[in-house]
Amino acid sequence: MPSNKSVSDAPITQFINCRILRDHKLQRDDLWVREGKILNPEKLFFDEQGYADERVDCEGSIIAPGFIDVQINGGHGVDFSQASDDAGSGVSFVAQKILEHGVTSFCPTLVTSPADVYHKVLPQVKVHDGGRHGAGVLGLHLEGPFISVEKKGAHPEQFLRTFRSGAGSLDDLMEAYGSLDNVAMVTLAPELSGSQSAVRELCRRGVAVSLGHSVANLSQAEDAVRSGASFITHLFNAMLPFHHRDPGIVGLLTSDQVPAGRTVYYGMIADGIHTNPAALRLVLVTDAIAAMGLPPGRHTLGQQVIEIQGLHAYVAGTKTLSGSIATMDECVRHFKQASGCSVEEALEAASLHPAQLLGVSHKKGNLDYGSDADLTLLDDGLNVRATYISGEEVWRKGS
Ligand SMILES: [Zn+2]
Repeated sequence: MPSNKSVSDAPITQFINCRILRDHKLQRDDLWVREGKILNPEKLFFDEQGYADERVDCEGSIIAPGFIDVQINGGHGVDFSQASDDAGSGVSFVAQKILEHGVTSFCPTLVTSPADVYHKVLPQVKVHDGGRHGAGVLGLHLEGPFISVEKKGAHPEQFLRTFRSGAGSLDDLMEAYGSLDNVAMVTLAPELSGSQSAVRELCRRGVAVSLGHSVANLSQAEDAVRSGASFITHLFNAMLPFHHRDPGIVGLLTSDQVPAGRTVYYGMIADGIHTNPAALRLVLVTDAIAAMGLPPGRHTLGQQVIEIQGLHAYVAGTKTLSGSIATMDECVRHFKQASGCSVEEALEAASLHPAQLLGVSHKKGNLDYGSDADLTLLDDGLNVRATYISGEEVWRKGS
């Protein structure tokens, strides 16, 4: 009997017959979990009897940290940018559905919308931990409305905004969004007048700033990074192409003007349609739209009729892609296959990197001792076999 009161009596789970992703390597080792956290077994053997209350036979699975999707617009018919009285339940519905794709945390993403949509939807989306009810919400990602008209993509032009005062003040942000309390990330165009002070204002409040839908040149992008920006939204899409005289935002990847100790991550939808990926600091995102998860055929989503064929969603009757319907596990598999990267690199692009970007890597995105036991169990083909949140099984294939 342990006499030390600091030693917990809570049950211990031991995951056996697995390879765990730790220190950037898959290692043949067991994983120990207590009270929803990853436990250091050495300490356990010294302090206690060294036994587990429960053993989970992983049958040779890879255990990766649970996936984190920082850009997902909806799925299964739900569009997070639709203002309704049950926007919160729409988010919950999708949160439950993405467990089967190994996603344990996410940032519901709103595209450019009028102020009344933000004011209605934001208060309904609470930051909360995941569980059987679904993946945890780390905060919203607001993509727009402070973006470039020239690179608006599918964002509705009539709702784009500039910083009215030209000073990028908190007032401008509050007028658009209503609140920043549950916002994890904002994507904006750094060339807009006043955007640099908006970047500082957001970072001061713990909101990650991403650059995107922008015609910024490299020096504007570098200024934004000096002001605190740390991410590039869907690299190569909706920005100036890399040009040797001015490489634009893309140039941040090789810039020597980024302050020491600052890392700029970049998002990519690695579903094979939008981009052709190439390595480091990569954060895989699905950028999935409401059509994700729906069966093949025609669907009416909001004002739009779309047609799903295979892995693609088209505006019905055309060959115009209407958005991504990729799932996170598909992105991981595709990224590995298309880039020839290692299993470890593919998994970290969906777990460690987004956690670092959001500043939550002290508890998520890795299997370090003390981290949340959010786990994705995969076979060698990187197909998801089971998903755990805080050490609890929340989804298992075939059950
Ligand atoms: Zn976008």
